[in-house]
Amino acid sequence: MTSTVYYGSPRQSRLDAKETLPAKLDLILERLHLRDRVKGETVCLKLHVGNNIGYSVIHPVFVRKVVQAIKDGGGKPFVADVDWDVAGCEARGYTTEVLGCPVYPVAGPRDEYFKEHAWEYKNIKTWKVAGMVEDASFLVNFAHVKGHPACGFGGAFKNIALGCMVGETRGQIHDTFHYDKYWFKENCPDKSVMQKIVDSCPFGAIVFDRHDREELHVHFEPCNQCMRCLKVAPAGSLKIDPVNASSFQEACAISTAITLSTFEKGKSTHLALATHMTPVCDCFGFTSMPIMHDAGIFGSDDIVALDTAVLDATANFKLFVENLPTSMEPQNNGGHPFAQLHGIYKDPYNIVRFGEKLGLGSSQYDLVDVLPVEDRGPGVNSYYISAS
Ligand code: SF4
Repeated sequence: MTSTVYYGSPRQSRLDAKETLPAKLDLILERLHLRDRVKGETVCLKLHVGNNIGYSVIHPVFVRKVVQAIKDGGGKPFVADVDWDVAGCEARGYTTEVLGCPVYPVAGPRDEYFKEHAWEYKNIKTWKVAGMVEDASFLVNFAHVKGHPACGFGGAFKNIALGCMVGETRGQIHDTFHYDKYWFKENCPDKSVMQKIVDSCPFGAIVFDRHDREELHVHFEPCNQCMRCLKVAPAGSLKIDPVNASSFQEACAISTAITLSTFEKGKSTHLALATHMTPVCDCFGFTSMPIMHDAGIFGSDDIVALDTAVLDATANFKLFVENLPTSMEPQNNGGHPFAQLHGIYKDPYNIVRFGEKLGLGSSQYDLVDVLPVEDRGPGVNSYYISAS
């Protein structure tokens, strides 16, 4: 099966509002027939509204366009995100007045409104889907693309996987990192050697376990698989293994599958804005410099095709190493720029592979540019006001 992904380039032929990304978003919404599909629907517009003083989240200009399209079509939209990000999101421009619809905490103000779904995966038995998502009859999943220390990258999958579950399930998804055993104390009983292993990691990823100070614990989020620790650890005592990294990504694919299963066929669609892409997610409340060129805006009913198209569009981009925080160390591993940043075991393509295996869509797609850039050469830009 080949899916269609609609695309708007960040580049313009002319200095003209009609050729900018918000205008191209309108064209994508037309191609997705959003207005024709939402009559009478209660539409959850799932965003990541960021935190604190982060400003690389999706600008309200884009959000308002989606809200307007839903209203034009006779749907009833609301924006939703996790409670601690929604609290204070007006500081980043997300208000009812600006967006044109209310902004709700996705599982209620106390993160206690949810419905449980059974699916056994490693340490997780049941998944608590946020009540506001369950209440909606149509989902518009609008993601800002960026790097992610756990998932490799944050796109359409990640926006649903973490953002449509309650905090307890989000925590369990993070705990999948530790399900497969990686520390074998019997092969390193000497505490001074354990200390050397801890000290070998420049990113503080290895610590003494807070529940048992005789054991070691790896925080896989900051681990970029530099393998310095394995040079210090006695043979057989520590594993830095792909399975620990990819468990998080597989759990995210399952989480997405469960959430999407709550919507009838054809009642969900996905958008991704790949501009001002930062090294890590929008959760932390800061915005750093962009780590690669803007890639544009994408839309599709197929979440696998959409995230694959975003990754393919950025695969050959040069990582702006000079823009990275100096505390980060990209790896020369030949992978996608996001994998260079977070390590090849967190290959960002893993999540779409897992999603495709679960039947969520196809990695085969046709990319349709909604307003191809013309090679116009030098010319007059009509918006200039004549000085005479
Ligand atoms: S492989 Fe990971 S845990 Fe080990 S030293 Fe490198 S970053 Fe730290």
